[in-house]
Amino acid sequence: MTTHKLVFKTILVGDSGVGKSSMLLRFTDNKFNPSHDLTIGVEFGSIVINVEDKTPIKLTIWDTAGQETFKSITRSYYRSAAGVLLCFDITNRKSFANIHTWVHEVREYGPTNSIILLVGTKADLINHRVVSTEEALKVAEEYGMNYIEVSSKTNVYGSKFSNEAFIQLTQEIYNNFKNDMKNNQVGITLVDPNRHYGSIDPTRTDPDKLKYKNICCGI
Ligand code: GDP
Ligand code: MG
Repeated sequence: MTTHKLVFKTILVGDSGVGKSSMLLRFTDNKFNPSHDLTIGVEFGSIVINVEDKTPIKLTIWDTAGQETFKSITRSYYRSAAGVLLCFDITNRKSFANIHTWVHEVREYGPTNSIILLVGTKADLINHRVVSTEEALKVAEEYGMNYIEVSSKTNVYGSKFSNEAFIQLTQEIYNNFKNDMKNNQVGITLVDPNRHYGSIDPTRTDPDKLKYKNICCGI
């Protein structure tokens, strides 16, 4: 029996090494992995979140590889995403400079009304910070995005855990959806509680190298 009525499809993008897979791992498994295991193609996770009015929403999260080689694969995922977590590392200026390229990528290949949330990662590394909060807020404003700083490792010095980024994005998509329900928003599925959703073997690895983490249903 499904408890959620809505499914939002979201995607993590940003340069390789900024901490996208770590955000997904913290959120879905509440774990942190100090090594950088390169994501091959796209990985998948899902979780049910209750938004402010207690509506349960299932978030499907597609974690993409930031490298050029995989751009053509990841592009096909923007197309159907209701929301995007656009990540840069606050200790890596190049990853911040590349935000412009990523916004254009998402705007060009994604649906026009998808929500992008700018995420500054590794907020625990305050002594290594090279991008200020003010700078990031300015860029976010330029593109009409909100901005959040998070850590997947630890929430020291008042910084937020990466889970907050997923929660904020879900709330933003939901608010947008509620205000404009007539607009058939790409990446949002209404779940029929009477329908049986089949499951896929979570250990399955497709030959085209797509890895599935928590596959639960075909939506
Ligand atoms: P991805 O390529 O964007 O998926 O990046 P990963 O999630 O694989 O992370 C790259 C490296 O940064 C890994 O060594 C992680 O342990 C590290 N990392 C990720 N998030 C954080 C964080 O919040 N704080 C710190 N200190 N390290 C992080
Ligand atoms: Mg990764």
